[in-house]
Amino acid sequence: MDVGSSGRRVYLNLKCGYFSRASMKKIEMQNPLVEIDGDEMARVMWRWVKEKLILPYVDLRTEYYDLGIKRRDETNDRVTLEAANAIKRLKVAVKCATITPNVDRVREYGLAKEWPSPNATIRKALDGTIFRSPISLANVVPAVRFWKKPIVVARHAFGDIYDGVGMTFNGAGSGVFKFRGVNGEEKSVSLPNLGGAGVVEIKYNLERSIENFAESSFEYALNEGLNLWFSAKDTISKVYDAKFKQVFEQVYEKYEQRFKQREISYNYYLIDDAMARAVRSEGGFVWACKNYEGDMLSDMVSAAYVGSIALMTSELLSPEGYYEAEAAHGTVQKHYYQYLKGNKVSTDPAALIFAWARALRKRGQLDSSADLVSFARGLEASVRKTIEVDRLMTKDVATVSEPPINAVLDTQAFITAVAKNLDHTFEKG
Ligand code: NAP
Ligand code: MG
Repeated sequence: MDVGSSGRRVYLNLKCGYFSRASMKKIEMQNPLVEIDGDEMARVMWRWVKEKLILPYVDLRTEYYDLGIKRRDETNDRVTLEAANAIKRLKVAVKCATITPNVDRVREYGLAKEWPSPNATIRKALDGTIFRSPISLANVVPAVRFWKKPIVVARHAFGDIYDGVGMTFNGAGSGVFKFRGVNGEEKSVSLPNLGGAGVVEIKYNLERSIENFAESSFEYALNEGLNLWFSAKDTISKVYDAKFKQVFEQVYEKYEQRFKQREISYNYYLIDDAMARAVRSEGGFVWACKNYEGDMLSDMVSAAYVGSIALMTSELLSPEGYYEAEAAHGTVQKHYYQYLKGNKVSTDPAALIFAWARALRKRGQLDSSADLVSFARGLEASVRKTIEVDRLMTKDVATVSEPPINAVLDTQAFITAVAKNLDHTFEKG
């Protein structure tokens, strides 16, 4: 039995791992968290989740920012920067999926322009790293049968080919890249002999950003008690990837002691070796990857682990410890149009519920509130119990679940089933 800070009781049923009962009035929060609302079906589910699963149990304190596309348009996107600044002040945020407008969206919503991705704006403001992990469930067997624990992919979402420049050339010749520093430093490097028409690409990264990426990765692994891998190809990319490897080694010196105390490890692997190791492993580690590899591997891990983007969570962590949790999926536009027509939809709210649980857990940890941490764990456990034990699930999970499936529910019915399990654990205030 766990006794919360206010002496309230939380019983943990160790046998099945689910919380079974706690008696309490509404859980108080010492500090608010930043609540970032979004668009379409994700926004609809946001309201349902809050009403049924959070507000009845927690005396919720949030600073609310509406990043719905209309509000971003009205404020010339100022609201996104305000939200990012609020995260710097309050340290913890939970975010709903938001539309990144393209030409079609500009027309659909009558926008002034194609506003930038809010996620990119927030990530840039915090210089954070994205950690994506699957919600592993007993009845959803990973495509890789050895995998038993989640693999968390940390993607360095800065630079490399995403901010590179390219050029084609029409015949044989030579190429030189020149650097001119603001302090007068001059350096150049020549390409190998170019024997005919072809194409060239130049990419870059910044030392500070690589350090932040490494720091966030070590922090995350330490916080979650997971081993950390970093993989690149320094044997071939003797300057570029070697720089990343060296930065990770330097940052590790700061963490080595704490890693040993926590009985976790840091390892560098060549990326091809890491791929083979990952497939043979039982999971349960953080895999830090450069931008391009992280882009690919996060999608591969989600498809191979849970077969659905709907069961992936996404956490943003900065080296200063700023934290934002969200579902990895988008606004689920197609389901939203069905919902607007009055049809019942079976959109999966699991990742969104997990995002709330993770943000509340983080708030609880920072404020030393055992009650809030217990509630957050209980909330995750209630989702798991609904799917794994009650065998009630939304359509996307039903398509990848092992039998038996007791019922395929629409979104609201699923949230109600989770609330029922939560009621067995926590009393409403
Ligand atoms: P999406 O919203 O993730 O949906 C793509 C498809 O994945 C859905 O049509 C659905 O497949 C399935 N899916 C995703 N989430 C699901 C859930 N919770 N439950 C059940 N199925 C789910 O991606 P998108 O349609 O490419 O993007 C829509 C909008 O979201 C875009 O405007 C984009 O800019 C934005 N977006 C935002 C974020 C973010 O804020 N983090 C991330 C990605 C995209 P079926 O239709 O086959 O059921
Ligand atoms: Mg990708």
